[in-house]
Amino acid sequence: MNSCVFCKILAGEIPATILHRDDQVAVIADISPQAPEHLLIFPVRHIPTTLDLTADDDALVGHIYRVAAKIAGEKGFAESGFRIVNNCNADGGQTVWHLHFHLLGGRELSWPPG
Ligand code: AMP
Ligand code: ZN
Repeated sequence: MNSCVFCKILAGEIPATILHRDDQVAVIADISPQAPEHLLIFPVRHIPTTLDLTADDDALVGHIYRVAAKIAGEKGFAESGFRIVNNCNADGGQTVWHLHFHLLGGRELSWPPG
């Protein structure tokens, strides 16, 4: 049995607010938002981390960024600005080992990150 929380969301075994789903990616609302807009974009296929991407996934990553930009536009925070973040492994702050990209917006985001 796959214990991955994002795979379970895709299988309908855990509830989530799903904003977009296509044959490659899904977009959900983060359960613990760190900004007024905090969405997660992840591939439908279980890929644990950025380190597991291969050349075959180049188009997938491009699609993820294009979907992020489209959703930001649809939700009205593209022009004010946003951040796309991928945390990789322990020092990167990764807590769910299914590759995902945070889409954060709706307020001014500080830099550098903690
Ligand atoms: P990361 O720490 O980069 O691995 O990010 C994992 C993110 O997944 C965190 O921001 C969590 O709040 C979020 N998260 C964990 N479980 C769920 C869930 N069931 N539904 C939505 N978001 C979740
Ligand atoms: Zn998964």
